[in-house]
Amino acid sequence: MFCSFLDSPLSPAMRDAVAHAGYSTPTPIQAQAIGPILEGRDVIGCAQTGTGKTAAFAIPMLERLTRADSPRPRALVLAPTRELALQIAATFDMLGGAQGVRTLVLIGGESMGAQLAGLQKRPDVIVATPGRLADHLERRSLRLGTVRIVVLDEADRMLDMGFAPQVERILQMTPLDRQTLCFSATMPPEVETLVRRHLVRPVRIEVGVSAKPVAKVTQRLYKATPQDKTPLLLKLLREERGRTLVFTRTKHRADRVARVVGAAGHRVTRLHADRSMSQRREALDGFRSGRYRVLIATDIAARGLDVPEIAHVVNFDLPHTAEDYIHRIGRTARAQASGCATSFASPEEHEQLRLIERHLGHPVTRASTVGEQAPRHAARITPAMHAGNNGA
Ligand code: AMP
Repeated sequence: MFCSFLDSPLSPAMRDAVAHAGYSTPTPIQAQAIGPILEGRDVIGCAQTGTGKTAAFAIPMLERLTRADSPRPRALVLAPTRELALQIAATFDMLGGAQGVRTLVLIGGESMGAQLAGLQKRPDVIVATPGRLADHLERRSLRLGTVRIVVLDEADRMLDMGFAPQVERILQMTPLDRQTLCFSATMPPEVETLVRRHLVRPVRIEVGVSAKPVAKVTQRLYKATPQDKTPLLLKLLREERGRTLVFTRTKHRADRVARVVGAAGHRVTRLHADRSMSQRREALDGFRSGRYRVLIATDIAARGLDVPEIAHVVNFDLPHTAEDYIHRIGRTARAQASGCATSFASPEEHEQLRLIERHLGHPVTRASTVGEQAPRHAARITPAMHAGNNGA
């Protein structure tokens, strides 16, 4: 464990890369994970989103890869979603590109031809979603016998999404003496089983109380009928500034809300599984660059996405599980920033609200107005409930 990157056993080139990325002090997960990973230990890390988890494995992996040469591919990172895979690869490029480490992304929705051409260039690191990687293995366009380090990122989510058979098959095709790193926000029994089967005497690292929201998120809740939600969102967007990420329950609702928000004059885009990969990339890049102020998304975007300075997360619909609530609101208040999360709860969502508040251990502060003014449809929005009333 070390308190500064300067005290760490990193090479000068890696310290330069870290400084260039703007990181001065290691985050807690980095302070605890970098040492054991550098020593070649297997690691199981329980960490909240936004804790600097990606660099916690990328920094020591890159350090190990640049210390000695070996046949390629040398490292494999598995991630549940395409967006997360792209984001992880961007971190590897940012921290390892200058040292000549080549990273290739293998995700669904993108042309096989380009991926096969990328494989011909013999990348050092492959970042993949399990489905597409399994396709490549079946076509024998890639072999994993040279892989020294495997990372399972967001393992709980990968298993939730039904990727367990692919993950098992992929792990079986890598050498037994590889180093395995597994990161998960929660530790359900399926993840424990995976860890016990595939990790050797892992170092366990837990940062903060996992599956609780980062402290810097201000949470509030509007009780609203389904008809109130759209005018309430428009009012919030009018009265508040900053980049806003809005979660809806379904793809269809995301499309519908985006249409209304766009018609009201906001720069808005959508992210969900029915959009093509190029549309999803364009939406996310545009949201990151500020071309769009508002992104309307389904839960596909809830995990792991790193967009700096999301001022506001709005749960247009409540998620089904408390864990998804934590992940959604974790999109704001990343790393050093603070943020605000607003939820709209209709009477039909009462049970979801109860589960979320039980998980949090406290009720979410009720709001009855937006800013100083009562919303246009205030009459239909029930007044603030008292703190202490658990929403029953
Ligand atoms: P992650 O949890 O990996 O998604 O990281 C969340 C954000 O924290 C990303 O924007 C990183 O660039 C940023 N970050 C990671 N490590 C550090 C650090 N040591 N200091 C400041 N920011 C960091």
